[in-house]
Amino acid sequence: MPSKGEHFGVMFFAILPRLRALGASLLYPSVFFGAFSALGLARGAPGVIAAVVAGSALLVSVLERLFPVSSKWNEDHGDTRSDRLYLVTNLGVSQTAAYLVGLVSARSDMLAVWPTELPFALQVLLALLVFDLGLYAVHRASHSVGWLWRLHAIHHFPRRIHWVNGQRRHVVHELLEGTPGLVVLLVLGAKGPVIASALAMVTVHLLLQHANIRYRGGALRHVFAVAELHRWHHQRRYAAVQGNYAAVFAFWDRLFGSRLADGDAPLEVGIDDEPTLQEGWRRQQLWPFRRGGSESSASGE
Ligand SMILES: [Zn+2]
Repeated sequence: MPSKGEHFGVMFFAILPRLRALGASLLYPSVFFGAFSALGLARGAPGVIAAVVAGSALLVSVLERLFPVSSKWNEDHGDTRSDRLYLVTNLGVSQTAAYLVGLVSARSDMLAVWPTELPFALQVLLALLVFDLGLYAVHRASHSVGWLWRLHAIHHFPRRIHWVNGQRRHVVHELLEGTPGLVVLLVLGAKGPVIASALAMVTVHLLLQHANIRYRGGALRHVFAVAELHRWHHQRRYAAVQGNYAAVFAFWDRLFGSRLADGDAPLEVGIDDEPTLQEGWRRQQLWPFRRGGSESSASGE
């Protein structure tokens, strides 16, 4: 007859897979809605925004070590230094943009049709929808317009997907992607704290979307562009998998006919058809403007 200790051990290992499955299902909603609730309560306080983004990044980076989709994706591919530079520069660009937009919005009401009477959290959700539609449109265009693709190809270059990849974008592309949504929000009359909170939610989501963590979106994958959907977008057999362009809300892809098949994506990611594109932040910032690179790699749909 097993002792009490042995009995407990058997029970523990029997329920361990279920606990892991539960954790995998709860990760995305816990982090996303946790961040959303904190930002909603903080009403745009810069300290809380910074703490939410930094805390989410720390959590995701730790969980990548514990529950990776691919342990190889946690290894340096000669890209760690440039990843850090992308993280710093692009967060700097987006935070500066949010600050400047906040200054302008405080002095101007433009159309003044923004529903400022709504609860703060609802305004953030509304701003996130507007901003995200702009991200979808520019991202989709970046896969069919040659010069935009040259700016965007940098995001597809790495042979691994992990939390920093969400910020691996050319500085010009970062500005181009964010501008439509920010302009519309400004014209509608959204205020700085709302816009800054919506941008923070995009950052938190991008951490999760590129996370090398075995989490599952479940039913939420019909609403949010979670990692298991976005990994299809990074496939190396690139021409065959044009789609899943959504940044935050997955339903844009369904609405505009660019949703790819469900299921786990293969782990072969990156691009092979840009032979002149090489690793290195400075080299990649200059690459789109150099002559001699492929002009024909925008694969179209
Ligand atoms: Zn893309």
